[in-house]
Amino acid sequence: MKILVTNDDGYHAPGLTVLEEIAAQFSDDVWVCAPSEEQSGAGHSLTLNHPVRLQKYAERRFAVTGTPTDSVMLALREVMDTPPDLILSGVNRGANLGDDITYSGTVSAAIEGALAGIRSIALSQVYSRASREGGDLFAAAREWGAKAVAPLLDAPFAGRSLVNVNFPPLAGDAVKGTRVVRQGFHDYSRGSVVEGTDPRGHRYFWFGLHAIEHTLDHGTDLEAIDDGFVAVTPLQLDLTHHSSLGSMAERYEN
Ligand code: MN
Repeated sequence: MKILVTNDDGYHAPGLTVLEEIAAQFSDDVWVCAPSEEQSGAGHSLTLNHPVRLQKYAERRFAVTGTPTDSVMLALREVMDTPPDLILSGVNRGANLGDDITYSGTVSAAIEGALAGIRSIALSQVYSRASREGGDLFAAAREWGAKAVAPLLDAPFAGRSLVNVNFPPLAGDAVKGTRVVRQGFHDYSRGSVVEGTDPRGHRYFWFGLHAIEHTLDHGTDLEAIDDGFVAVTPLQLDLTHHSSLGSMAERYEN
């Protein structure tokens, strides 16, 4: 099995090494192609207005001066001789739960894989102040990564679908198990923006500094993490709100 490993935290991020170790438990044909710099929050952006460069660090190890989407595109079209059987994206440093998903470069790399018809899984490690200061931030991902991926290797994936995995901020032996759950609700509309003044006297703004409010609805990824479980959520790229199609069509006279 041929595996492509990518991320949005950048080629030098510790979580990429964690994911390579997870991938190595399934295959010795693991390729890395990841952004050269951190691209968290890049979403599914594709670089259109300046050139993107490919840097080869070693056999099967590449960095791309662009976004996670650029990295997967280049991996599939330039770097790899044949397409991978599996794309793993992460392990992200931080949650990709609820409405984090559309902002996420980690998930978007897997979306790009799904668009190419390749089995794709995004993996993220939730952290808390305690887990960040307590030693190994990726403890749960190390212990549970292969256990989360293995059942997905021969599971049927519908076209234009992918899987989003989040690990709770706990030591490996404290994780209670795995739950397959739906996407929850993270209320970004109430997120704050921090304003400051730069050394030249110009105003600047900084996003993402505060925790985002959320509701722990039953059966969601947010609830599973809060309960100490690995959260596994199948996602689809069809964003159509199907149940609105009929009633909306009635508002237009043709
Ligand atoms: Mn990230």
